[in-house]
Amino acid sequence: MAPLWQRPGIASIMARDKVESSRSDQCMFGLVTNVTKTPVHKKTMLTSNIQAVHKLFGGIVGSGLHAHELCQGYEGGEKRCAFAQNYPENMCRVLVDAIKFHLDTDVAAQ
Ligand SMILES: [Zn+2]
Repeated sequence: MAPLWQRPGIASIMARDKVESSRSDQCMFGLVTNVTKTPVHKKTMLTSNIQAVHKLFGGIVGSGLHAHELCQGYEGGEKRCAFAQNYPENMCRVLVDAIKFHLDTDVAAQ
């Protein structure tokens, strides 16, 4: 199966005007395992036509800054990958800030 971003529906969105993708590591926003609180790397790509999303989220990578736990196996009776499906709170705050900035500036200017 093709990666998500190569599927026809997603590819057509990515081809639209002003749509870009940016990548960061969720460990840099506080993604940790549920028991030992060890950072989980989890590279993540976001696609959006909101430029503030890319400015606030993109390019925040943490390779080498701290040890990582692999997103596999179990911890506290729960699959680490299942626990890591929840975005860390700091990442959510960054995305909310980006959307607020977009609404207050870009949309308000139209
Ligand atoms: Zn990290």
